[in-house]
Amino acid sequence: MLKLLIKRGTLVDPSQDLEGVYDLLVEGNRVKKIDREIFEPEAEIIDAEGLVVAPGFVDLHVHFRDPGQTYKEDIETGSRCAVAGGYTTVVCMPNTDPPIDSPWVVEYVILKARHVNLCNVLPAGAVTKGRKGKELTDMYSLKDAGCVAFTDDGSPVMDSEIMRRALEISSQIGVPVFDHCEDDRIATGSLSSGEVATLLGYSSRPPEAEDVLNARDCILAYHTGGHVHIQHLTTALGVEIVRYFKEKGAKVTCEVNPHHLVLSEREVLRYGSLARVNPPLRSGEDLKALRSALADGTIDCVATDHAPHAEFEKDLLGVSMPGMIGLQTALPIMLSLVEEGVITLRKMVELMSTNPARIIGLDRGTLKEGAVADIVVFDPKKEWVLDEETNLSKSKNTPLWGGRLRGKVIYTIKDGRVVHKDN
Ligand SMILES: [Zn+2]
Repeated sequence: MLKLLIKRGTLVDPSQDLEGVYDLLVEGNRVKKIDREIFEPEAEIIDAEGLVVAPGFVDLHVHFRDPGQTYKEDIETGSRCAVAGGYTTVVCMPNTDPPIDSPWVVEYVILKARHVNLCNVLPAGAVTKGRKGKELTDMYSLKDAGCVAFTDDGSPVMDSEIMRRALEISSQIGVPVFDHCEDDRIATGSLSSGEVATLLGYSSRPPEAEDVLNARDCILAYHTGGHVHIQHLTTALGVEIVRYFKEKGAKVTCEVNPHHLVLSEREVLRYGSLARVNPPLRSGEDLKALRSALADGTIDCVATDHAPHAEFEKDLLGVSMPGMIGLQTALPIMLSLVEEGVITLRKMVELMSTNPARIIGLDRGTLKEGAVADIVVFDPKKEWVLDEETNLSKSKNTPLWGGRLRGKVIYTIKDGRVVHKDN
């Protein structure tokens, strides 16, 4: 059996309360042993001195555009970005063409991901047929086919009765409903409703568009016992809504995207359409609230919302497609928050590995002995630039393009096998 010995790395594994310099032995596809010093002459050695060793990251929110829009990304290029960013598991959104709303599309995604064989690509199924918001999908057969979550992401589920029924089924089958909370009757424009939208004269997507659906979903989760996961939370009030319903015992979890933690609406003035995302970048006050909610545990996890678009789709601010790529830049962004003292390194691993795995009930996000060996080894200090050479996505829509980043993945190991190595 293949043996891999990771020597002298700083192990950070919140799932077993572990932080310190250890050796870690992988045998086959499992973590065999963790100890201060392991001697194993047959093993291949990875020298991890000065590097951090953590459970492979889990991203609950990526767009791989496959099937249907593979000029932006596909399951193969998306997987390459994922492992280069330290991710060993990603959940891909169903707003493909055709959408992931029937078992055969689920099977297509699973088979292609298995063929690519780099990271776990787990499909989220649509809540409604065609993502049209009118009629529930067959959530039971989608679950049997392999869906780990349900969402109409890209669009909200506007019909409250449909959301209520989806959450009822969720409580029966134990699969969470993720929601893209933006009331599309209120969210008509492309920027948040602050000073920048006013200055540029754009119609807006005000915070209340997000808050009303966030609150509705929390209420429905509270009453049905279903598990709702609020996607890409961005507002200060939204944080309070989630906190309130968690305290009441509702099954509510939420995620935040890295860009919403470090970029405010003012960045639109500098980066134009590259800074256009849904929900939009918000005010400095919102950023502050999100950051403290990371630290106090109200926010459960960080998800990238990796959303590749071709250059022609990002031409004009007012009509550009929303979203940015994010799989390769999430770690540097999160490490910048560690550097600033907003969160600890341990908290970062909790937000990127432990908690997202728990949200979808996945037996990953841990380095306990006997666990599947999904591991990230990164250098928190290594500087690099995202450019034509380092970018592995088919697209390059991010305001971080060409800028200096700090923190790089050196090895990604999935099922005990090295699937990415920094060169
Ligand atoms: Zn979304």
